[in-house]
Amino acid sequence: MNVMDIFETMEYGPAPESATPALQWIKEHQPFGLFINNQWVASASGQYLESINPANGKPLAQVAAANSADVDAAVAAARAAFESWSKTPGHVRARSMYAIARHIQKHSRLLAVLESLDNGKTIRETRDLDIPLVARHFYYHAGWAQLMSSELPGFEPVGVVGQIIPWNFPLLMLAWKIAPALAMGNTVVLKPARYTSLTALKFAEIVQEVGLPAGVVNILTGEASQVGEALVRHPGVNKIAFTGSTDVGRNIRRATAGSGKKLSLELGGKSPFVVFDDADLDSVVEGVVDAIWFNQGQVCCAGSRLLVQEDVADSLISKLRVRMEKLRLGDPLDKVVDMGAIVSPGQLKEIQRLVAQGVEEGADMWQPSWACPTEGYFFPPTLFTNVSPATTIAQVEIFGPVLVSMTFRTPAEAVALANNTRYGLAASVWSENINLALDVAPKIKAGSVWINCTNMFDASSGFGGYRESGFGREGGKEGLYEYVRPAWEARERSKQASTTNGAATAGGKALHGTQPVISGDDDEQANGHNVWRAGGENGVIAALPPIDRTPKMFIKGKQVRPDSGYSRDVVDPQQRVIGQVGDGNRKDVRNAVEAAHAASGWAAGTTHNRAQILYYIAENLEIRENEFARRIVQQTGRPLADAYEEVQAAISRLFSYAAWADKYEGVIHRPPLRGVVLAMNEAIGVIGMACPDEYPLLGFISLVAPAIAMGNTVVVIPSQRSPLSATDCYQVFETSDLPDGVVNIVTGERDALCQVLADHEDVDAMWYFGSADGSKQVELASAGNMKRTWVNYGHARNWLDTEQSEGEEFLRESTQVKNIWVPYGE
Ligand code: NDP
Repeated sequence: MNVMDIFETMEYGPAPESATPALQWIKEHQPFGLFINNQWVASASGQYLESINPANGKPLAQVAAANSADVDAAVAAARAAFESWSKTPGHVRARSMYAIARHIQKHSRLLAVLESLDNGKTIRETRDLDIPLVARHFYYHAGWAQLMSSELPGFEPVGVVGQIIPWNFPLLMLAWKIAPALAMGNTVVLKPARYTSLTALKFAEIVQEVGLPAGVVNILTGEASQVGEALVRHPGVNKIAFTGSTDVGRNIRRATAGSGKKLSLELGGKSPFVVFDDADLDSVVEGVVDAIWFNQGQVCCAGSRLLVQEDVADSLISKLRVRMEKLRLGDPLDKVVDMGAIVSPGQLKEIQRLVAQGVEEGADMWQPSWACPTEGYFFPPTLFTNVSPATTIAQVEIFGPVLVSMTFRTPAEAVALANNTRYGLAASVWSENINLALDVAPKIKAGSVWINCTNMFDASSGFGGYRESGFGREGGKEGLYEYVRPAWEARERSKQASTTNGAATAGGKALHGTQPVISGDDDEQANGHNVWRAGGENGVIAALPPIDRTPKMFIKGKQVRPDSGYSRDVVDPQQRVIGQVGDGNRKDVRNAVEAAHAASGWAAGTTHNRAQILYYIAENLEIRENEFARRIVQQTGRPLADAYEEVQAAISRLFSYAAWADKYEGVIHRPPLRGVVLAMNEAIGVIGMACPDEYPLLGFISLVAPAIAMGNTVVVIPSQRSPLSATDCYQVFETSDLPDGVVNIVTGERDALCQVLADHEDVDAMWYFGSADGSKQVELASAGNMKRTWVNYGHARNWLDTEQSEGEEFLRESTQVKNIWVPYGE
């Protein structure tokens, strides 16, 4: 017998990892308490929940079941700790986080085994991926704690953060949440998933070990209805960070609407795995294994939709079947096992239900010939072919080891199929032609795109979704902004709270006076209405009425009348009518959204071109400076000098965003692999926006300019009280080479129009600068398609102040980061 014969005939030999140290640790700590203020305490209810080992269905541990009283206690502890932790120097926080990272490494094997026992995932994955990445997240964010004061000047921590995590990567999700929160000086109350609490409890022990101050990290085990919901609604919580299902994310969006709580949501996905015919098919097969059978497919960014170019589909499918036949499924603690157990009987049933539905809907199902273990919750790798793109299994997140495959002919068709989903979390693209791959990657609507690789994660490179996959990023510098807010906000709000007359102010200035201070010609023209000029040669023309001006709406580059056929009066501060604007309705908004979509080519144009157009708008605005200033006076009654200041500020703002258009570019990350990650700032798409009343021109320009500079198209509702400065702008746009549909203006009742925009499924983000109630409505309605929102909760900002009203915050709200992973080397 030679080596080759031995290799061919060699039997598989199990290589089990011992569970003894982990079981011993569990035994010593049973039953587990809650971790509040660095103490282990019993839950208020005295109840416990059972944790099950999904690989054998046997009880593993008893964990405390917290309720709302425990949430109160944990939030109070976190609030008290925030006072000092938020003021602790970055270097000191960095030392604590460095210590956490070190201790995770010291306990790495215990954590890996615990995770496998509790979740059912293989030891190979917990040992080689989950736990190393957990440590990496704490190291990486220790660095950001150190650098916060120099790299994020003008920002401060948000406060107490409620964090809710799922069961698929229990400790890794904890790290993704806790590391950036602590680095930025926040304190946290974290709820692990009901099924998988054990590594979070071991983490709590590490928190004690490293001597993190009491109350900085609090961990509450228990059920969603008792702990999760109470945390979401708790008035002492300043931010919620959630990872889980889109349905729960939507509920959380609704529950926090109008509360002013910051929110980040990392939700589900149905990620495409796109294979072009020049791809290396053997590598693709291994990629598919990683994409959909890693963690039993219970991965939010699992490559669950295989899209293959038609001419290689048969060949790839047969190679895949051969590989599937050889996958090993079984005891997660066996180091040679490829697939472990499904987390719970409920999840297993859901997978079975969706697979049965796929068969019913006519797709062809294929599974390997071998059988799954009979004890525990296992499901075999499953492949569907002959799948139609509209069927349930092609659209719904199955969250199990189930791959659906479809074919395409051209790159354009591949992109269309890839984007045929309500989600947008991740994608991978396989081709030996890097030009093709780099052309396709930006066209796929997803937060991460992996080229010739899949399921790559690193702390340096942000992760998060588009569309119904949620908003916000975890990791990278962009992830830090989820845990800070501009320092001026708190300053400004306390100033506003202390003003005695209750009038809205900005930067200490009254926003709108009552007395127009203009005289002579200016007075007449500014008040324009009903001014007849006497005179004329020989008294022939005794008087001339002004020519009536009819500001229309502006949709698709055209001035249009309102669908309703109604107009609204615009009045000056003395309640004199100074003009009329169209009373926009649902239909006008829909037309405007359609026009904004049709103008999506704007994002594909060059940044240089966008900059040029913004400069040109500024140039044309300056030519009409006098007219715009008088219009402001007419509408607001503010002094003319103030109005000129506003026009000049608007021109300067246009210059700023023209400058930024080709400079807000993204970065290149160097994660620990041979390759790079291109973090690109992409336009969000169609942004609906409601302008503030305070500065009719500057408010409008301050919102429109950054959005279009970054490649978005917009539907703008101008100030309801003073819309004429915005409607005057369309003549400026018309003479500035702005393509049709990039800016669309719908006048009318702000909150009613906003409701339509926020409800609209084809609007990708919504900005609102109006009342507290209106802000709440926008956040509530946005839950429909999980659009990103940016609202002011009724708080004014000083639009003249560049710290508050210009720059990075606006650019960040105008973009989303796409991380494109490009490994290299032969
Ligand atoms: P959920 O979204 O229900 O749970 C995620 C976390 O949220 C858990 O900690 C859960 O607590 C908590 N939670 C649930 N409901 C609420 C609520 N109303 N308020 C506050 N917190 C809440 O996911 P499931 O575990 O039920 O899984 C269902 C499906 O979700 C999966 O099949 C999959 O499709 C998707 N999913 C997506 C994930 C992702 O990474 N994007 C991760 C997990 C699931 P508890 O555990 O106590 O219920």
